[in-house]
Amino acid sequence: MAYLPQQVIDEVRSRVDIVDLIADYVSLQPSGENFKGLCPFHQEQTPSFVVSPRKQLFHCFGCGAGGNVFHFLMRYEHLSFPEAVSLLAQRAGIPLPRPSHRPSQEEQRKEIFYQLNTSVTEYYQHLLQHPTLGRRGQEYLRQRGITAQVISTFRLGYAPPRWDTLVKYFVEEQGRSPSLLQTGGLIKPRPQGKGFYDLFRDRIIFPILDLQGRPIAFGGRALESDQLPKYLNSPETPLYKKGEMLYGLYHARQAIRRLGYVLVVEGYFDLLTLWQAGIENVVATLGTSMTRRQAHLLRNYTREIVLVFDGDQAGKAAAFRGNTLLMEAGINVRLLVLPAGTDPDTLIRTQGKEAFLHLLDQALPFIEHLIRHGEHRWNSIQDKLRYIHTLLPLIAKVARPMEQMEYLSLLAEKTRVSEHLLHQELRAYTRARASRGQPSSTLPSSPKPSLPSTVTPNVEKDLIQLMLEDPTLIPRVQKEVSPEEFTDREWGEMACLLFALAEKGVEATPAQIIDLFPRPQLRERASQLLMRQLPLEHRDQLLEGCLSMMRDRRVKREQEKLKALMKAAESRGDFTESTRLLQRFMALQRERKGKEKGEKAGMT
Ligand SMILES: [Zn+2]
Repeated sequence: MAYLPQQVIDEVRSRVDIVDLIADYVSLQPSGENFKGLCPFHQEQTPSFVVSPRKQLFHCFGCGAGGNVFHFLMRYEHLSFPEAVSLLAQRAGIPLPRPSHRPSQEEQRKEIFYQLNTSVTEYYQHLLQHPTLGRRGQEYLRQRGITAQVISTFRLGYAPPRWDTLVKYFVEEQGRSPSLLQTGGLIKPRPQGKGFYDLFRDRIIFPILDLQGRPIAFGGRALESDQLPKYLNSPETPLYKKGEMLYGLYHARQAIRRLGYVLVVEGYFDLLTLWQAGIENVVATLGTSMTRRQAHLLRNYTREIVLVFDGDQAGKAAAFRGNTLLMEAGINVRLLVLPAGTDPDTLIRTQGKEAFLHLLDQALPFIEHLIRHGEHRWNSIQDKLRYIHTLLPLIAKVARPMEQMEYLSLLAEKTRVSEHLLHQELRAYTRARASRGQPSSTLPSSPKPSLPSTVTPNVEKDLIQLMLEDPTLIPRVQKEVSPEEFTDREWGEMACLLFALAEKGVEATPAQIIDLFPRPQLRERASQLLMRQLPLEHRDQLLEGCLSMMRDRRVKREQEKLKALMKAAESRGDFTESTRLLQRFMALQRERKGKEKGEKAGMT
């Protein structure tokens, strides 16, 4: 938040209407004073995603996501807070002041590499378009049928066969430091003698973009068939870690959201060919099998994945490793296994888009695929048992019981083992998982509120809601209640933040206050609270009721303490002390009774 003055943040927030903004991403229907739609952050059939124009907040009762315009955009577009503010400022036509904040050393260092990579991308693009230097590259892409539009969208480039293309241009002509380019994974020191040489030579260059469209690394496809490796990727650099990004995700995001699923292919050209055929919800794994990080990245966009594999055995094995990870991340996986000898690129080229879409329609859920095509895996009874025991743990991870049952009966049919036996075995796996404390369901897990051991937190919740809805009530609460009194840690944390707000004398709207909560859990609990309807016309009665319940709790706690002290005093034989404590206890008791009576009298 240090990037932007509060005043600007407030102006942006007040000028962008949350219903207008979200309606660009989610189809919303009016519902009472609010709007409802299907949540973009989790898969659902019935809408539990609510937008309140009055409070300028959204909240999903399915997965718990919630907040104001900034939080929606941060989550949807994977932006930081300042990035979301500046994007919305642009949208509202509000000029931003130049950043007053000094970026950290780490940010400065990264910025240097982003700029370097951007220049390198542009230079390789320029070389590809060059009439003489780029001719080999142009010819290759033409042969593979890649259109000029795709070349420009994906910012493809070409590294000519020379050993010193980048060295000459960036080091010798532009005077950049060779160690910068070396750390950026672009050049290497010569093994003998002095000087450096280029990593990418005679290759088509694929810039790998992050979620903001900045090049963080490069992939290079060799042009000569004997040139090894066929695909070369940047080494790890300050911007790039292997297995953290997916090729094409930047371009595919909107289509993935729109269509609700993503295709995962292996190669750059598979992706480009599909894209050219109008299939844009596709990403490539950059040669590795799916990593946990990549699975979590995709889960932000969809929980439906179709893994596309060539018809060979290696492809199937890769699918198996990646899939367990995906299932653990709560993602539904289907497998599209292409006919032997084809990949998406050749299939679309030789048989057309329709053939691919037809296969896509027939893509089976991963487990079903394994069961249906698993016969070849066993030659003996031992093999068969081993096979069953690799499948059962996977079936145990399936969230929907109906689906589980379907798989079991299919497995029974295929292996000719009784369904009843399989079911017993499955229950053993489910129990083992449960006892290890793993969630047995893949439904989105919303953070569980920490429930207090004794008291129901409703009074705490009501107090927080009252303060959120009407910040003028905060001082009244603060006078009587301290944040430590909240048995629920998160409500206590919120109380603390709200008290601090009141001390500064700030008047705020709910959408403004929610920016104060640094952690998403707090924000989401707050947005949920604010979607509840409190009878605000009885605001004062409600507040007094809550405060008196809090007082009552205080007194009870005090009495509990006295009881323990009395017991201790009695067991020591110190009856003077125990009598004194008893008197104090009774005084508190009378106070409670008296107040109850007073309240009853007051109500009639
Ligand atoms: Zn949701």
